[in-house]
Amino acid sequence: MMHGHAEAFDKKQLKASLYETASVPVDRSVWTLDHTPPAHPPLMGDVEADIVVVGAGVVGASLSLHLAERGINTVLIDAAQPADAASGRNAGHVQPYLLSLEPLADLPGKGRPFLDCLIEHRNIVFELCQRHGIDADQVQGGLLEVARKPSAALESAAKQWAGLGLDVEILGADRLRPLVGTDRYSFGTIWRNGGSVNPFLLTNGMVQAAAGLGARVYGDSPVRACERQGGRWKVRTASGSVLADRVVLCTNGHVGADFFADLQRTQFPLLACGLATRPLPQSFLDVVNPKRIAMSQHPAGLYPMVVDRKGRLISATIPGVGRAHRSDLYFQYFLRHLRRVYPEARDVRIELETYWTGMTHNSSAIYEKAYPKFYRVDEGLFALMNFGSWGNHLGPMMGMDVARALAADRPDSAALGCERPEQVRFSGSFSTKLRRFLIPSARLADRFGLV
Ligand SMILES: Cc1cc2nc3c(=O)[nH]c(=O)nc-3n(C[C@H](O)[C@H](O)[C@H](O)COP(=O)(O)OP(=O)(O)OC[C@H]3O[C@@H](n4cnc5c(N)ncnc54)[C@H](O)[C@@H]3O)c2cc1C
Repeated sequence: MMHGHAEAFDKKQLKASLYETASVPVDRSVWTLDHTPPAHPPLMGDVEADIVVVGAGVVGASLSLHLAERGINTVLIDAAQPADAASGRNAGHVQPYLLSLEPLADLPGKGRPFLDCLIEHRNIVFELCQRHGIDADQVQGGLLEVARKPSAALESAAKQWAGLGLDVEILGADRLRPLVGTDRYSFGTIWRNGGSVNPFLLTNGMVQAAAGLGARVYGDSPVRACERQGGRWKVRTASGSVLADRVVLCTNGHVGADFFADLQRTQFPLLACGLATRPLPQSFLDVVNPKRIAMSQHPAGLYPMVVDRKGRLISATIPGVGRAHRSDLYFQYFLRHLRRVYPEARDVRIELETYWTGMTHNSSAIYEKAYPKFYRVDEGLFALMNFGSWGNHLGPMMGMDVARALAADRPDSAALGCERPEQVRFSGSFSTKLRRFLIPSARLADRFGLV
C-alpha cells in the first residue's frame, strides 16, 4: 500500500491575468510535455497561394491537410506555432456526436448532409492518424458517459444516435463496474467510435502531413491585416504578405484577428482549465480506468478524465470568475472526486504535474445548440470557427469537408452550409452563467450526492 497524499506542484505560478486570458505558455499544457515539434519559420517577404489558411489549430491543420491532398496551393500561417491555443490545451476527448440534433433543422437540407458527414467520418481522428502515420497517443477505446441514476436524456440520445449509425450502447451497473472500477455509477452510455487523443500531437501531425504534401507553413506570424487586391486578398504580417484567391480564418473566435468587424462578437467565449497528475501506479490505474476509456459524468461533466500513455490522469473544468489561476483549488476538487469515487485513491500518492487554461468559443449560449460555423465574411473570405468543446472530432471532420467544398468551388455545398456572420447579443452571458452559477452549484450538488 502506498501512503501519503503529497500534492507538490512546483511549477512557478504565473500572473493571475495570464490564466484568466488563457495566455499561459502552451508548454504548461500536459500535451506538450516531452514533445518539441519543429518550429515553423516566420513569413518573410511576399508569397502567393490559391488559399491561405489563418490559424494552425486542429481546424486549420485539417483544412490545410485536406486542401494540400487535393493539390491546392496552400499557405498555413499562425500567430505562434501549431496548437498553441485551444488545440494544445484541451481535455483530449474525441466525441463523435453532438448533444442535440435540434440545430440540424437550421442547416441546409435540414441537416442531412451534416449528419451524413458525421456518420461517414465517425472514426476520422483515428483514420487520419493511421493514414498519415501520426502518433498522437490516440486510443479509440470509447467515450463513456456515466450517471448515478438511470437518465432518460442519455438513453434517448444513445438510441437516437444508434439509429443513425453510431456504435453506441447503454450500460447498466453490472457492465459498468469492470470498466470504471466503482459502484458509484448505475447507468452509462459508451460511444465506441470515440476515445482520446493528444490534441497537440494530432494538430502538429496534421500540419506535418500538410507540409509533406506541399503546403507552406509559417509560424510566429500574427496576421495584422487582410485587404482586397483586385479580385484577390492580401494577408499581411509584420514581415511579409500572402496574396491569395481565398482566405479561411480558423482562428477560433478570431482571437487576435480584430481586423474584420463582421466577425466581432459572433460567439460566446468560455474559459476552461486543464490539469494533469504525475504518472500514477499501474495498480491504481487498473482499478480506475483499466482500458483507458475517455470518461465524463452526466449531467454536468465536472470531472472528465482520460489517461495518457505515461499513466497521468488528465481532467478539465470551468474555473470560477477570478479563480482561473487557482491550480490548488481545481486540483483539490479533482482529488476529492477521486477519493469519493475510488476508495483506493485514499492510499495513493497523487500529485499535480501541471495546470493550464485555454479559451473555447461557442456559437450559442445554450451548450447543446453550439454547432460550429462556416461563415462567408466576404467574397472569397471565409471563417471556420466556434467549435466549442467538440473541436477534436468536428475540427478534423469540418476541415476535411470544407476543403472538399472549396476545392469544388462550391462553398455553399459545405455540410454546415455557408452563412453570413451574425453578431450575438450579450456574448459574455454564457461565461457568466456557467462560471458564476451553474458550475459552482453543480459542484456542490455533486459533493453532497444530490445528482
Ligand atoms: C481546457 C479545454 C478543454 C477542452 N476539452 C475538449 C475536449 O475534450 N474535446 C474536444 O473536442 N474539444 C475540447 N476543447 C475545445 C477544443 O480545444 C477546441 O474546440 C479546438 O481546439 C478549436 O480548434 P481551432 O483550430 O478552432 O482553434 P485553436 O486551437 O484555438 O487555434 C486557433 C489558432 O489561430 C491562431 N491565430 C489567432 N489569431 C491569429 C492571427 N491574427 N494570425 C495568425 N494566427 C492567429 C492561434 O495562434 C491558434 O493557433 C477544450 C478546450 C479547452 C480550452
